Amino acid sequence: MHEFNYSQPTEIRFGSGKINEVGEAVARYGKRCLLVTVSVEPVFEPLFDKIKASLKAAGVEVAHFDGIIPNPTTECITAGAAAVKNHDADVVLGVGGGSSMDSAKAIAVEATHTGTCWDYLYCSETQPTEKTLPVIAVSTTSGTGSQVTQVAVVTNSRKRDKSAIYNSIVYPKVAIVDPDLMLTLPEHITASTGFDAFAHAFESLLHPDASPYTDMMAREAIHLIVRYLPRVVKNGSDREGRAAMAWADTLAGLCIANAGVTLPHGIGMAIPGMYPHVMHGEALALNYPAFTRFTFKNAVSQFAAASRLLNPVLENKPDMAAAESMCEEVDKFLKEIGMWFGLEDFDIPREELRELAEQSLVLPDNGNNPRVATVVDMEVLLEQSYPTDRCFLHDCSMTNE
Ligand code: NAD
Repeated sequence: MHEFNYSQPTEIRFGSGKINEVGEAVARYGKRCLLVTVSVEPVFEPLFDKIKASLKAAGVEVAHFDGIIPNPTTECITAGAAAVKNHDADVVLGVGGGSSMDSAKAIAVEATHTGTCWDYLYCSETQPTEKTLPVIAVSTTSGTGSQVTQVAVVTNSRKRDKSAIYNSIVYPKVAIVDPDLMLTLPEHITASTGFDAFAHAFESLLHPDASPYTDMMAREAIHLIVRYLPRVVKNGSDREGRAAMAWADTLAGLCIANAGVTLPHGIGMAIPGMYPHVMHGEALALNYPAFTRFTFKNAVSQFAAASRLLNPVLENKPDMAAAESMCEEVDKFLKEIGMWFGLEDFDIPREELRELAEQSLVLPDNGNNPRVATVVDMEVLLEQSYPTDRCFLHDCSMTNE
């Protein structure tokens, strides 16, 4: 067993009804709170009312900034940072999916530093400091794990680029994971976010920083997702399934906070960066079939382990055969949850695939894949991911076997 470090500063409050603790949790970090969410639609009204009542009961003054959009932009963050200043907020509460929770983190940075959040990306020389406001996260999707990560993903529309703040200062102080909040998720968002959690768990198994600790959590997350995601896609009111998915999402978030993601996330970030109408989970799903075939020979034990979680019959097969079977098992799983897509389903212009390939190499994710893709490989992977109906006769023979 190789040595490893593991750290996780976020206090996790998990379970049905935990949302009622939000006021008390926030009050421990501040008295003036900016609530950060997507726009107030009828589906969210009861939740937002409950949160405001809980904050009020705890003596917290709240202002509501509901200007977040899915794949949040730098403009959303700048507007949120102005709202922090207007309200003189000393704590930021992000409630929603990854878009709202990440925005809360980025707003907490931008409101307390010069420039914009884009100046504080993972690769910037300048990094956010202790001045960053404390963040509390309440997750309403089961997918990104953002409630327990040091990551805040933001889109720069002008640059057609999606990137991230990656700094332990933005770890939420408290994560409230209440599975009841996910009961309203529509079928497709359930599937798309659930597949994101699957990708986090699986890619963390492949990552060079994986440890026995993250492996243990990743396997449990995959086990739960395989069993429960198809159930909650079919029946969103399945409380047991929602709880299992909320836990799997949190486990997978803990994995990426300590290990990380690989090649599919490089593509999965580049696609919505250039085409913001594509959800993060959709961008992952459409590139997984090509990615698995590209990678399985370079990570046989991890592919075999995950494959056997998807289909226990593979226990009896040798590792290489089980690893190769992972490609078909993932295809079947994507079809089962209604996530079998190609780039063509999202009207991505074919003539931009080279640019998309280059953009998919910008983040460190590809460099952490067991088989690192060149730009030519990446273009081939995207070509293979283009049609909805694709069949793979054999694994991809590319430049760096
Ligand atoms: P999202 O936050 O964009 O939400 C998607 C849609 O679901 C929105 O329209 C939202 O209004 C709706 N929704 C959310 N909760 C709902 C509920 N309970 N009932 C009904 N509708 C609901 O989706 P997401 O996939 O959770 O987040 C995606 C963002 O998170 C992307 O920007 C992605 O890059 C980022 N991300 C961050 C991390 C991280 O570690 N910080 C990890 C992965 C992805």
